Amino acid sequence: MSIKIDKNKCISCGKCANICPGNLICVDENRKACIKYPKDCWGCTACLKECHVSAINMYLGEDIGGKGGYLFTSEENKDYLNWHIVDKNGKEQVIKINRKESNKY
Ligand code: SF4
Ligand code: SF4
Repeated sequence: MSIKIDKNKCISCGKCANICPGNLICVDENRKACIKYPKDCWGCTACLKECHVSAINMYLGEDIGGKGGYLFTSEENKDYLNWHIVDKNGKEQVIKINRKESNKY
């Protein structure tokens, strides 16, 4: 798996770099987040959950999204996080997760 960071959306908060357990996220010359070693990303989704401006997309494997499918999050409010799954045809599904109950899933 790998992620892609939209630098136009990134607000340089640094939260994704701080949370990545593999230390894979860097900061570029414009203080925007970047990915150092895309192939080393194991898809833990920690950075997606930390990004409050939906600037990080995670590419999905063929088995769960097909080539070109991706995942990103958006904040509904402080209690709910929306997970957006976009398949290779651009069809989007949204799953709303209560943060306090996220360990149930
Ligand atoms: S998905 Fe996990 S391993 Fe991959 S870049 Fe984000 S925080 Fe790091
Ligand atoms: S968490 Fe999002 S906004 Fe913050 S630095 Fe990372 S990509 Fe940019």
